[in-house]
Amino acid sequence: MNEIEYKIYIDDVIRRVEYARVRVSGHHIVKIVAISKYSTTQEIKNLYNIGQRAYGENKVQDLKSKSNELEELPLEWHFVGNLQKNKINNLLNINPTLFHALDSLELAYELQKKLEVKDMILDTLIQINSAKEESKHGFMPEIAAQTYAKIQKDCPNINLRGVMSIGAHSDERAIVKESFDITYNIYKELDGATICSMGMSGDYELAIECGSNMVRLGSVLFPK
Ligand SMILES: *Cc1c(COP(=O)(O)O)cnc(C)c1O
Repeated sequence: MNEIEYKIYIDDVIRRVEYARVRVSGHHIVKIVAISKYSTTQEIKNLYNIGQRAYGENKVQDLKSKSNELEELPLEWHFVGNLQKNKINNLLNINPTLFHALDSLELAYELQKKLEVKDMILDTLIQINSAKEESKHGFMPEIAAQTYAKIQKDCPNINLRGVMSIGAHSDERAIVKESFDITYNIYKELDGATICSMGMSGDYELAIECGSNMVRLGSVLFPK
């Protein structure tokens, strides 16, 4: 793809996000987080040059190396992967904008301890396993709201901002929609939650129509 083709291609993705959000409401703003896990720093720079500021990675090591390499650019970095306890300090040293995938109480307590030591606050989403898939992390929908409240109460250094979920792994639109509806309905009831992170390359328009206000786009933003 040459530069002009690339711009036309990216414009089309942005337009799709825009159309989907306006179908919800003119007042529904959706943030795009570009998931750069399969991309080089040069590809990130190309996207930055047409205005994209927020990037996400799913491995702490990659988050560290890419954010270091691109230090001179005013980017914000999200961590969207599942966090192992032995990587907590490494993540905190990067001080990401948002951690999307808090998926157990045990991790919450460990994270709280390390945050307290460093006297830091971390903006965080809980991950919900709305489609109840064994291959996926996250809290079951039935206990998500009560767990959210418990973390809010017990972990003052974890600043909960909302929820994250991955749509059901299915070709059937109705099944994917149901998983987004479940996540959105939990999100709506949470005290003070403002971020509903759902929608990836294959299902972001549907996710937005179901109420998502943050989409995590990888392959569709980094054409190969
Ligand atoms: C990789 C990844 C994405 C982006 O996936 P695409 O299908 O390439 O858009 C979004 N969220 C998470 C948690 C990921 O790991």
